[in-house]
Amino acid sequence: MIVDANTIESGARLTTDVCIVGSGAAGISLALSLSGHGLTVLLLESGQHAAHAPTQALYQGEVSDERMHSPPDKYRQRRMGGSTTIWGGRCMPLDPIDFETRSQVPHSGWPISFDELAPFYPQANTLAEAGRFSYDAVDAMGPTAAPMIRGFDSELVRTNGLERFSCPTDFGKRYARRLQVASDVKVLLGANCTGIRLEAGGQAVRELEIATLSGKRFRIAPRTAVLAAGGLETARLLLASRDVAPAGIGNEHDVVGRYYMCHVAGNVGTLVLHGRPNEVRHGYEVTPEGVYCRRRLAVSPSEQRRRGLANAVARLHFPRITDPRHRNGVLSGLFLARGLISYEYGKRLNDGTRMSAGLYARHLLNVMTDPIDTTAFLTHWITRRTLAQRKFPSVILRNRTNRFSLEMHGEQAPRPDSRVTLTEKADALGMPQLRVDWRYSSSDIESVALTLDLIGEEFERSGAGRLDYRRETLEQDLMRFGAYGGHHIGTARMGSDVRTSVVDADCRVHSVRNLFVAGSAVFPTSSQANPTLTLIALSLRLGKHLSQRLAPGVARLHEAAS
Ligand SMILES: Cc1cc2nc3c(=O)[nH]c(=O)nc-3n(C[C@H](O)[C@H](O)[C@H](O)COP(=O)(O)OP(=O)(O)OC[C@H]3O[C@@H](n4cnc5c(N)ncnc54)[C@H](O)[C@@H]3O)c2cc1C
Repeated sequence: MIVDANTIESGARLTTDVCIVGSGAAGISLALSLSGHGLTVLLLESGQHAAHAPTQALYQGEVSDERMHSPPDKYRQRRMGGSTTIWGGRCMPLDPIDFETRSQVPHSGWPISFDELAPFYPQANTLAEAGRFSYDAVDAMGPTAAPMIRGFDSELVRTNGLERFSCPTDFGKRYARRLQVASDVKVLLGANCTGIRLEAGGQAVRELEIATLSGKRFRIAPRTAVLAAGGLETARLLLASRDVAPAGIGNEHDVVGRYYMCHVAGNVGTLVLHGRPNEVRHGYEVTPEGVYCRRRLAVSPSEQRRRGLANAVARLHFPRITDPRHRNGVLSGLFLARGLISYEYGKRLNDGTRMSAGLYARHLLNVMTDPIDTTAFLTHWITRRTLAQRKFPSVILRNRTNRFSLEMHGEQAPRPDSRVTLTEKADALGMPQLRVDWRYSSSDIESVALTLDLIGEEFERSGAGRLDYRRETLEQDLMRFGAYGGHHIGTARMGSDVRTSVVDADCRVHSVRNLFVAGSAVFPTSSQANPTLTLIALSLRLGKHLSQRLAPGVARLHEAAS
């Protein structure tokens, strides 16, 4: 059932088995996995189905340096479905090496292994509508799958790994009907959790305080509460709940909000491939079940260990859009139309290049002298993207020259001084706003440099191509836009040491017996992978844990039946 929180009487005290705060990918996946286990579930959502400016404004806050991190009301959506209402849909699991304690990545090591999460990935893939849980090109595409780059064969730099693409599925829209008809799940829209109240001893959640923007205030007393409010907001809620725990909940050791990570990402260098352009798969392929997927260059785990590298991947990409020397009408068209593109997707078209009459004219000339490609692109985009249900994931250009830049997407090492804190300023509901101080390390840049060196060596050795990049400008290339997009990781990290983590291996806040976290806030390290598929898998794992804990008899019946 889905109802508006304004229908609840002010002063009411609702009870439920599980109360989940936030209906993004994490909260909805968890609610669906709990349904049917004999438990009552309340799913609280601050927003409604559509975007609403005053609700979105509750996400406003400060950043220490806007060149390095977008304001906190960007790259997040406060409405049903959360940020899946605007995400790109790129899915891939973490790699087993991500879970290891690695000397080259300080503060690394998860308290669970890949194998403990693996059983939940196939269902996560299904919920994300990314097809079969198969991330190997031959397995996904069949034995006739062509190599990514003919003539490039390396044990150290692998090319058979895939990323898959969701529709991209808006979890709010896609699962509204299932939530509407579920008799054991009640979704409250417009319900903002403004505080978590603990029992006097601080070891259990007593109540959640709820407010609506139209002035209703009520409370929820759950047997168990789960924060699924996103990687930044979960830390905000923990830090802002200070009546019993003066430093904030779970923050006895000043860890909440620290170790904040995104990804190190940017376009670098020039890779010139010696083969024929039609022997290179740099764009999207379609699996037999109709899912878009794409290859990437990835360093093998053993070579990561041997060379002391953090995890990173490289995709074959087009040249820098803002530079008209690419002479490509489509890229120039995108640059000229950047004012029409949303903040999140337009940001990378605004790299600080100042528009001048001369620059405008050169881009316009590119568009006018490249009419065939430009028209073909527009037709393709309208049919395969705008009108299609499963959308073509991003702009891909025909590459006639076999020259690419490398689009790097790398892990950043967690560091305690990269953090979010509260400010003195409050939002419309009285909650202190967030301040984001995201930091990276020189070792993150050095690791990408070593990765590029290895890729270059392997292309040289195989005779398949040549990679050139400038070490002197690498940091600038990777940090041109600061922290990468909407990946908010690590602010309530998982661990077994209470002094350096916030939640345990079951995602339970160490010091509170009935408070859990779902989402990328719990990741101790960031991996090369985009986070959503893994946070869905972790939510499903949490769902299993909670149903066994709260309704053991029903959970046993489910297991026997499956
Ligand atoms: C432009 C963009 C592109 C992206 N592309 C990709 C991609 O290709 N692949 C990928 O893996 N990831 C991608 N991401 C990241 C992805 O969107 C997030 O990882 C994912 O959506 C996070 O899900 P979540 O449920 O943890 O959090 P959210 O989506 O942030 O959901 C949190 C929910 O909690 C609600 N909420 C917040 N505070 C409260 C409160 N106090 N009370 C009640 N409700 C509250 C919010 O309204 C929201 O609905 C992208 C993000 C952006 C912005």
